Formats: sequence, structure tokens, C-alpha cells
Amino acid sequence: MPPPPSEDSAARSGVGQVSVEVGEAVVNLAKRRGFVFQSADIYGGFRSAYDYGPVGVLMLRNVKEAWWNAMVQQRADVVGLDASILSPPAVWEASGHLTGFTDPLVECSNCGRRHRLDQLADPERCSHCGVAGDLGEPRQFNLMFRTHAGPVADAAAEVYLRPETAQGMFVNFANVMRVSRLRPPFGIAQIGKSFRNEITPGNFIFRTREFEQMEMEFFVPPPDAARWHEYWCAERLRWYSGLGIPEALLRLRPHDADELSHYSEATSDVEFRYPWGWGELEGIANRTDYDLRAHAGHSGQRLEYHNAATGERYVPYVIEPAAGATRAMMAFLLAAYHTEEVRGERRVVLRLHHSLAPFKAAVLPLSRKDALTGRAREVLGILSPHWMVDYDETQSIGRRYRRQDELGTPYCVTVDFDTLDDGAVTIRDRDSMHQDRLPISKLVDYLSTRLAD
Ligand code: ATP
Repeated sequence: MPPPPSEDSAARSGVGQVSVEVGEAVVNLAKRRGFVFQSADIYGGFRSAYDYGPVGVLMLRNVKEAWWNAMVQQRADVVGLDASILSPPAVWEASGHLTGFTDPLVECSNCGRRHRLDQLADPERCSHCGVAGDLGEPRQFNLMFRTHAGPVADAAAEVYLRPETAQGMFVNFANVMRVSRLRPPFGIAQIGKSFRNEITPGNFIFRTREFEQMEMEFFVPPPDAARWHEYWCAERLRWYSGLGIPEALLRLRPHDADELSHYSEATSDVEFRYPWGWGELEGIANRTDYDLRAHAGHSGQRLEYHNAATGERYVPYVIEPAAGATRAMMAFLLAAYHTEEVRGERRVVLRLHHSLAPFKAAVLPLSRKDALTGRAREVLGILSPHWMVDYDETQSIGRRYRRQDELGTPYCVTVDFDTLDDGAVTIRDRDSMHQDRLPISKLVDYLSTRLAD
């Protein structure tokens, strides 16, 4: 995972940092254990996207579920939405993305490599061949993917893949307010795929052309916007630390005025200390009333809050916490990766928060004898209605523990020969490696209590 040229390469290793070596080990583990595969691997790989394997898909779902739980389930003032990925140009014309959603592109006339100008450490020098002065004038490159709806590929059939999920919430503002009977302050949340034709995708799943976002648009009375912006910055930072990212690896960074998006009055990024330095995890923007006014103007519809009883009428401001599910998954993996010596052997363990761990438990029969595997499958049958539980009867028990440690599985449940007599199993804790023995009948309660922590 080579560091991109623009990022702070001083942050290499040390306390409260994820070293470059750990970054490489996590990418390796992710591929080896089935978290993430290179897309179109058998055709040499496709740099724009990644595929999430049998274990990765579980973790990614858990990341999204944790977000949904905090942002929708546990809030009376937020409702969900699942809007379409394809949308007509009118949406993007109104939102300003057709003209404004661009990155500055330069091309080195010496080696032909293209760069995003704002990611170059030295804006005069090609970071690939090292030649200075050959980058030419930057041109604004629009990041939206365009395609055609229907059989005729003409201008009238042009549509766009969304580059953010947010516009789905704005165009549905009136629909949602009507059916949910909410009034500001209230939010609309959505999780889904977004697409950006990034000039330089890279750093594994940090920057891809197809990725998943978790966004919430929180509509507030305009005078309260600054206060709500502060509130959401604190909430979102707390979400990441609550899920196990150490505070030393997190920070909140307000944008400078010249960094702000075309719609934003104030933005702060939640940043994570990646192996190459600080980088964005999530942006929390005060989008003002820009989007609602723009869509109202272009569509001719009224997009405002109106209180029929008091006559009060205004266009709400919007505070938007916009996170990447795939980028967050990478940060959770990097923060969870640990190695330690156990009885002279090196152990790799993902200390993932229980709610993010792909499997909550693994059932391991001590041997492959039918009597044991039969009993172990019964235990699996008791646990799997409650949680994703892995089952493994291959190799030695020590190797199977190590495999589960690498997957971040909080509990291993071992079925041994005594189980056949006493109906009890041994439970091993991932982090302390402490073992408890208890009757199978108490297993669900035991795990429920511990997994809820
Ligand atoms: P960057 O400056 O890194 O390009 P951005 O400021 O354009 O990101 P936002 O528009 O704020 O990103 O998008 C919200 C979130 O979506 C980001 O914080 C990130 O987690 C995620 N995200 C954006 N672009 C990508 C991408 N190309 N690959 C993966 N995740 C992304």
C-alpha cells in the first residue's frame, strides 16, 4: 500500500499510529482471509473497485448496521430512505454537480501520468517520474459517471450514476416530510453505493470509483444550524471511538475557506491516522439551504417547512454527516490489528468491537470424529439463529484459534470428548484467551451478555 504523494508521510510508526507495515499486513490479511478481493481478479484486476468476500461482506454489513442503529433506530428524529442510483441530468444540474463536482487534473507531458493537482506534494513536479515543470495547465475534470437510459445513446437519454447519496434526500424532502409528519429539526438517512470517476483511486479501499456511503441530511431552522453542526461533529467523532478506534487515531479538522465545497458554509472532517498520515473518514458539512433552494428553483416545487397553524414558513438549513462505509471498514480493520507473543509464538488478532466482528462465535469440534462433529453441529444450530457463527473442523485446534483471532471472532466454542458426557463446552475469549466451561444450555445467555458489551 504505497503512500500517496500528498499525504503526510512523516506519520510512519510509533505510539498512536498505524505503521506502514501494519497497513500492508492488514491488506494482506484482508485478501488472505476473504475480507476483500481485487475486483475481476482472474482478468488481472480492476483498479476502480473491490469485492467483499465471505467475511468482508459480514463486516461491511455490520459497519452499516452500526451506523443505521445509531443514526436511525435510536433516534426519533431521523427516518430512512433508499433512493435510486440512476438519476436524470436535471438533478445534477440543480445541485451544481454538472459544473461544480470537479477535481483539478494535470498530465505530465514527460511520462504521461495523470494526477489530481491538489494531491501532489509539489504542484510543479510529477510524483511519478520526478520531472518538474511538465504538468501543464490544470483542467477541471468532472467526477460523475455518465451513461444512457434505454436503447438510444443520444443526449436525451443521458443519465448519471450518483456521486453522493445526498441528492436523493433533497429531492424527496417534501415526500418524506409529508409521510413522516416530522418538522425541523429532523433528518433523512441513507446507505448506498456512490460512484466517482476518481483521477487516482488507490490505497486499497480508501479511494475507489465505486464505494458505499452512509449519509444523513439533518434539516434545521437556519438560526440553529451552527449549533447543530457542532452537535453532529461531536456525535460522529463519538461513534468512531465508541466502536473501538483509539482517540489518538482520530481528530476533527475544520476545512479552510478555500477547501469548502460549492454548497458548504462550514465543513469539518473526522480524520483517521492512516499509515500514510491523516486522511478523511467522514465530512460533516453545513450545506445551508443551498440544495433545497436549488431544487425548488429548478423543479418549480415548494421545498420548505410551513406551519399552517402559525403561518411560519422557511427553507431549512441542512447539516450533513457524510461517511464512507467502505472507508470506515478499512479504518476499523487498521485500528483493530494487533500482534503479540503468546508462549513464544506470534499471534495476530483483530480486536474488533463485538458489533463489527464478522462472526460473533466459532464452533470447533476438537476432532473430526462423527460423535463430536454431530454434537458441534447441534451447538451451531442453537447459536446461528442469534448470530453469524462460523464452524471449522479442519486442522489442529491451535491453528483454528489463530484463524478465528485473525477474523476477529470474539468467542470460540470448543466441543470435546467430555462434552459427550457432561453436555458442557469450553469458551475461549479472543482478547484475554481466558477459557470458561459451561453447559450448552447456558451458552446463549452467556454470549448474549458478553456480546452486548
Ligand atoms: P476526498 O477529499 O477524500 O476525495 P470528499 O471530501 O470528496 O473525499 P465527501 O464528498 O465528503 O468526500 O464524501 C463523504 C465520504 O464518502 C468521505 O468522507 C469518504 O468516507 C467517502 N468517500 C468519498 N469518496 C470516496 C471514494 N472515492 N472511495 C471511498 N470512499 C469515498
